[in-house]
Amino acid sequence: MSRVIGIDLGTTNCCVAVLEGSSVQIIPNELGGRTTPSIVAFTDKGERLIGQIAKRQAVTNAANTVYAVKRLMGRRFDAPEIQEIRSHLTYDTAASANGDVRVSVQGRDYSPPEISAMLLQHLKSTAEEYLNEPVTEAIVTVPAYFDDSQRQATKDAGRIAGLDVRRIINEPTAAALAYGLGKKDRERVAIFDLGGGTFDISILEINDGVFEVKSTCGDSLLGGEDFDRCIMDWMIAEFKADTGIDLGNDVLARQRLKETAEKVKCDLSVESETRVNLPFIASDKDGPKHFDRVLTREHFESLVAALVEKTTPFCEKAMKDAGFVADDIDKVILVGGQTRTPAVQRQVAKIFGKKPSLEVNPDEVVAVGAALQGGVLQGDLKEIVLLDVLSLSLGVETQGGLFTRLIENNSTIPLKKTAIFTTVADNQTIVEIHVLQGERELAKFNRSLAKFSLVGIAPAPRGTPQIEVSFDMDANGILSVSARDKLSGREQAVKITPSTGLSKEEIDRMVLEAKQSVEKDREAKEQAELRNRIKIQASTLSRSFSELGWLLDAGEQEMVKDALQQAKSLPPEEAGLDLLRDLLSQLEKGAEKLSSAMFSMPEMPGLRAREEGGEKAESDVNQLLKSALDHVTSKP
Ligand code: AMP
Repeated sequence: MSRVIGIDLGTTNCCVAVLEGSSVQIIPNELGGRTTPSIVAFTDKGERLIGQIAKRQAVTNAANTVYAVKRLMGRRFDAPEIQEIRSHLTYDTAASANGDVRVSVQGRDYSPPEISAMLLQHLKSTAEEYLNEPVTEAIVTVPAYFDDSQRQATKDAGRIAGLDVRRIINEPTAAALAYGLGKKDRERVAIFDLGGGTFDISILEINDGVFEVKSTCGDSLLGGEDFDRCIMDWMIAEFKADTGIDLGNDVLARQRLKETAEKVKCDLSVESETRVNLPFIASDKDGPKHFDRVLTREHFESLVAALVEKTTPFCEKAMKDAGFVADDIDKVILVGGQTRTPAVQRQVAKIFGKKPSLEVNPDEVVAVGAALQGGVLQGDLKEIVLLDVLSLSLGVETQGGLFTRLIENNSTIPLKKTAIFTTVADNQTIVEIHVLQGERELAKFNRSLAKFSLVGIAPAPRGTPQIEVSFDMDANGILSVSARDKLSGREQAVKITPSTGLSKEEIDRMVLEAKQSVEKDREAKEQAELRNRIKIQASTLSRSFSELGWLLDAGEQEMVKDALQQAKSLPPEEAGLDLLRDLLSQLEKGAEKLSSAMFSMPEMPGLRAREEGGEKAESDVNQLLKSALDHVTSKP
């Protein structure tokens, strides 16, 4: 059985880990990094770049470099909160036929799960190379506050990438697993998770291997990206005031501003001030313009104060839902790179009345927890019991557009809940079940997950039929709903495929394309390797041939010359692998012939004499080689 890897699929960075023996290893990427930027870029040559190499070229290829796609997962194109995010991206977005958001690059639309799948596929290959075995199963983490559509979208991404996502677990819960494993005493822990794109707060009780999530809440649109944007907005405003030029509309400039903003933000986590320098950021009739300012930590903190403050009510609600006050919390664990900002840490200390613990690495802890969960599923770890909760209430629409909850948020999952409903009209034989998720009282303000009809209800006066609606939520937080007319026994069930999700056909197509692209990537890699080997082999052969080629017979010399000529004018990248393999083998054959001819030569006095030392021996060798060279070059 292949091992189950743990993947933290972050907005900004991804991290992969695996349980090896009794400890978790972070799987380094191809450049040795422990985290990989969640960036996919498409080049003019049709190449797809992922991770650090995609990040490096972002400034020069901004419109085709896709980042922070997690923020778009399972979202509608016209959702107001998404419009704001979209307007700041350096790449284009579009609406799909059913209204969900798509990424538009080089004239093609991709669904966010498709882009996430490219990241997952890359992480899968990295893990396979590291483990030296195929990887087909994974635990993928999501923000606790992801709703059903977003979880489904994440599962879809896994499937497209050829990964069976065995469990989707909440990021804070994964972090708690990593923190609390092996701890014997009962502890109440708050996991404060502020990453690149989302904020989650979860309160857990950990007791000798039992992890019980008491409450969870957060904002799936609050994260480090917003902090960066505050700095970008400041830069744009300052520059405009200075020069009258608006950098906000310039895609290239925006990508540079974004990179600089993130760097400045990270610098200010350790420095009290930093220089923000962007030479040649724009130009006008007077020539090039540069941005050069100093940003102090104090000023930065004033720019992001509202964002930092935004976390407070969520923490208070989470404590209230768990039935705790700040004093009941034994430890606050920080997760997510954005918690490195000192102002965030101060705010956490203020909310919980205690300094947060720095025991875990905020960038890796989630992947470590996911790998541990993988270990539990594989049976390598036994001592964990994980009791997670549902983050958003689930229910149905009832008369008057009301939202009637069947499952309250913060209920422990997996769970099953049934409620009885009835008809609103006499002899009504059909009812529509509209399944929703959210916390608002009116259905229209919550997320619509599915609609289906129950037909064949036995005719009866209104209010008489008993329609039993059952919600069944599995351990991944994914829902199945059924409705049954108790009298006629008619039943209808759906596994929720959210309206913003992908159809089966779309997923099948993407799975196929993803497989093909793995093939394409493999080919490109082999191409590059063959070309390198050809270059090296040709250069060595050409040197030895020019010196000792005369040892070969005429036919062999022709063969070598032909191979060297071919290597010199190597056709462009489109050259098939077979052609390259043939050429390499021809060069290798030439080298072989040359070396066996050398070994079968009569003993060379010059060589022997040289070993014994002396100027004369040296000149003998030179003489020998020169005559060989003359011989070869004089040949037609
Ligand atoms: P994560 O999703 O956990 O990878 O968090 C990524 C976010 O953390 C990004 O917005 C980063 O810019 C931010 N981040 C990483 N390192 C630091 C740091 N030293 N100071 C402030 N923010 C950071």
